[in-house]
Amino acid sequence: MADGLQEAFREALARFAAGVTVVSARHGGEERGMTATAFMSLSLEPPLVALGIHEKAKLWPVLEAARAFSVSLLREGQEAVSQHFAGRPQEGVALEEGRVPGALAVLRCRLEAVYPGGDHRLVVGRVERVELGEMGPPLMYFARGYRRVVWPS
Ligand code: FAD
Repeated sequence: MADGLQEAFREALARFAAGVTVVSARHGGEERGMTATAFMSLSLEPPLVALGIHEKAKLWPVLEAARAFSVSLLREGQEAVSQHFAGRPQEGVALEEGRVPGALAVLRCRLEAVYPGGDHRLVVGRVERVELGEMGPPLMYFARGYRRVVWPS
């Protein structure tokens, strides 16, 4: 991509506010998680979600072997969790029962499809189970930093 376009592309996408998720998968005693904001609700019938995951992510072999993954939707205050699963290890962060403890919600998915998408791949999951945590404000990422939403008191 031309330098100018790439810079403008990055800047434009930095202006898109996103909730922060952790995608996790486990197979044969191995478990991996990674932070992702490229997450969307794709279909209601059937219930599908989609994520953009870098082609070199270490999550791939485990996710593809498991043919299943979980998406934990992070809540405000879980910045350390996001940092940890983005490759900046933090004390005391761990997955429990295949998901992030204390998340706003967890979507348990079966791997439905994987599509090429440049240096990323689009992974589609069929939601088989939903676990709802206590309702509250989400962890947001916008303009290259963690943000808060205005939450009614
Ligand atoms: P690693 O970098 O090895 O794993 C990530 C981290 O998680 C490592 O520190 C590892 O020690 C830790 N970890 C893994 N498994 C476990 C476990 N079972 N228990 C405890 N710790 C574990 N990348 C994308 O491809 N798509 C996105 O949408 C995306 N969004 C991002 C949003 C934000 C806000 C940030 C900060 C990063 C985002 N990234 C995204 C980048 C991505 O999170 C990092 O590149 C990540 O490090 C890639 O993970 P990996 O699977 O390659 O493996």
